[in-house]
Amino acid sequence: MPIDATLPYDDNNIFARILRDEIPSQRVYEDDWAVAFHDIMPQATTHILVIPRGAYVSWDDFSARASAQEIAGFVRAVGHVAREQGLVASGYRLLANTGRHSGQEVPHLHVHLFGGQPLGPMLA
Ligand code: 5GP
Repeated sequence: MPIDATLPYDDNNIFARILRDEIPSQRVYEDDWAVAFHDIMPQATTHILVIPRGAYVSWDDFSARASAQEIAGFVRAVGHVAREQGLVASGYRLLANTGRHSGQEVPHLHVHLFGGQPLGPMLA
């Protein structure tokens, strides 16, 4: 069921629990601003989710409330993961579903990083 991106942050959402290590994930990267882990149901050869450490429901919430430092740290982390995964030469796709019409399911901002194969017109 897609989430309503205008709702307040829910501390018990699945990605909040992954951040607190209450449920396992296959982490590929972490720093002060972001954590990256494999999607549990990959839709491409490489399908990684990058999330900020801060409590933000969606891209809308993050872009409105996060500090410039948090935003810079998060954007740098996404780029770092893509480079570390060796995706730059072949190319990759970033996607941040936001709210009901997008189909966003998890109410903690996440950027999907797809790559490792030619990508069709849409994923996730
Ligand atoms: P959304 O539709 O919200 O943009 O994407 C949510 C993504 O989170 C989906 O691709 C889904 O497979 C992934 N996901 C949902 N639950 C878990 C989980 O517990 N662990 C991991 N690693 N990924 C999850």
